[in-house]
Amino acid sequence: MLYNEPNPLETKVLTRRFGIPNSADVATYVEHGGYQAFLKAAKMAPEKIVDEVKISNLRGRGGAGFPTGLKWSFVPRTSPKPKYIICNADESEPGTCKDRLLMEYDPHQLIEGMMIGGLAVDAHKGYIYIRGEYRYLITMMEKAIDDAYAAGWLGSNIQGTGFDFDCYVHTGAGAYECGEETALLDSIEGKRGVPRMKPPFPAVAGAWASPTLLNNVETFSAVPSIIRDGGAAFAALGTPKNGGTRLVCLSGHVNRPGVYEIPLGYPMLKFIEEFGGGVRGGKKLKAVIPGGSSCPVLLASECDIAMDYDTLAKAGSMLGSGGMVVIDEETCMVKAALRIMRFYAHESCGWCIPCREGTTWLRKMLQRVHNGQGIASDIPLIGELSKNMLGRTFCALGDAAAMPTISIVEKFREEFEAHLDGRPCPFEHKHEMALA
Ligand code: SF4
Repeated sequence: MLYNEPNPLETKVLTRRFGIPNSADVATYVEHGGYQAFLKAAKMAPEKIVDEVKISNLRGRGGAGFPTGLKWSFVPRTSPKPKYIICNADESEPGTCKDRLLMEYDPHQLIEGMMIGGLAVDAHKGYIYIRGEYRYLITMMEKAIDDAYAAGWLGSNIQGTGFDFDCYVHTGAGAYECGEETALLDSIEGKRGVPRMKPPFPAVAGAWASPTLLNNVETFSAVPSIIRDGGAAFAALGTPKNGGTRLVCLSGHVNRPGVYEIPLGYPMLKFIEEFGGGVRGGKKLKAVIPGGSSCPVLLASECDIAMDYDTLAKAGSMLGSGGMVVIDEETCMVKAALRIMRFYAHESCGWCIPCREGTTWLRKMLQRVHNGQGIASDIPLIGELSKNMLGRTFCALGDAAAMPTISIVEKFREEFEAHLDGRPCPFEHKHEMALA
């Protein structure tokens, strides 16, 4: 089960209705304060809505961490073209599994967040792009949309506000690449999902070349709370420039894996101890992937750190998509790098050479080293090849593959050396990492 029993240590804002019976029903949502933020926003000037989101210091929860209010302000509200709200529910970063819970336990919170986005930028159509593997969620989300129409929370002149909003689910076909916002837009338009050249950015020319407000599930789900309680209250939960709470998907070698909502800036080691119950089996902590498989790995000695965007960036890593993987002392880091690279080599869309060829060759070299067939020059070559991919690919997948690899080679070089000269993996009889 992904959603653990309510944890009194959590700061429950987005997950406040998790655990309430029938929390996904529209009646339950309304009974617990749902759609009131929309009614409040419908009386606000659009600029004021955007201002509240700016004040909240909400940053995109999909991975990039871009300030959400600023992104909303880029959409030209007065454009004569239709405008669109698109929710990226293509959650597929290894280690990340929280958007699915937000859709499963509180789908109306997401719909309400998108509607408020619609009010802010004068958009009247919203699409939720859900990855194909989340089949059961597609059904649940479609039911929530149908229920919202039936209860008068979607459609024309919603609750007498004069605002019209339609919402649809669009199913992806299971490509990691389609989580990149412009590839997602191509996919939603019925084309092959490959990234577009930017600029223009989606805010100006997104879906069907029209202004498009595109955010992740967790980002939109935070908006009703921001409007209801005010941006300042949300900002106060976190640290400066890192407002609010974050759903962190804690997995790997901990006693209590799960998805937990914590304020931004929460101390990482404390989080692993208090929420995760410490490292499984009393083993020592070796490393942490702080925000999904694309993030540079932190050594245990680097984990005495606050979990917010800026602090992790200063430490050379990222908060990413909130997928924290705890790695214990018995894990082979060469195998961890191989697991990660297998994923990216498989998911590379093949559009550009550094990513297509780079991920394939890195996968082969990491496999060779792990098999004990590597030579000493493979180690710097893996590092160099990864560095040469950085910033030289069309979209961020190339970087996503390169960054963890660079960090693992640099920080665990002796483990690579221990695999050379036909020697068996020193961790062979220990457990494997479950990542990817
Ligand atoms: Fe495709 Fe990779 Fe290039 Fe992105 S970086 S466009 S996934 S080949």
